[in-house]
Amino acid sequence: MKIVTARKILEANELAAQRNRNRFHAAGVFCINLLGSPGSGKTTLLEALLRHLDGPLAPGVIEGDIAGSVDAERIEALGVPVVQINTQGACHLDAGMVEAAVADLHLQRLDLLLIENVGNLVCTAGFDLGEQLRIIVLSTSEGHDKLIKYPAIFRGSQAVVVSKMDLLPHTDFDPRRVAEGLRVLSPEAAVFHVSAVREEGVAELARWLAARASARSD
Ligand code: MG
Ligand code: ZN
Repeated sequence: MKIVTARKILEANELAAQRNRNRFHAAGVFCINLLGSPGSGKTTLLEALLRHLDGPLAPGVIEGDIAGSVDAERIEALGVPVVQINTQGACHLDAGMVEAAVADLHLQRLDLLLIENVGNLVCTAGFDLGEQLRIIVLSTSEGHDKLIKYPAIFRGSQAVVVSKMDLLPHTDFDPRRVAEGLRVLSPEAAVFHVSAVREEGVAELARWLAARASARSD
């Protein structure tokens, strides 16, 4: 019997992530790994964001889901190039899956690649996809306690989008607790408060992303 340890899997992932990073760099593509729980509003945020990225940045999307293509269909409806990955049970994307999906995108035509990871706050944190930026979406309906319960994913993120701000009055979510948690876990992280359905806070996030992307490609 051959036993493959988690360490070996992570080493293989790191090699694939580095290949992805090299390809993104060579093509001048800024890559973002979008993380969050199922139902946190990642796809709705993505749709709103894509509508606001009306500058010179050409976006592309990779959708990661265990099954189905409903999210990719939503992105396709916006006229944005998209590839759906079905992990067939795996609860996170890995760099090899992204490497395979990238083959179906015209990287040279893109400036920005947004990867929506499988909805999961646990093992998605451990898999580098070759991205330059990690953004975690945390909805007000999930609760501010997620920073205490899932520290690793917040520690590895450079931005937190507090989503579903329109629901805030109906929850006990306290945005100050997010700020407190981040002071320990990721003090440099940018925080955005967004209601994608009301299109509030989206323009600010889009401007920040565009600035980050152009700073990296200069
Ligand atoms: Mg989604
Ligand atoms: Zn997983």
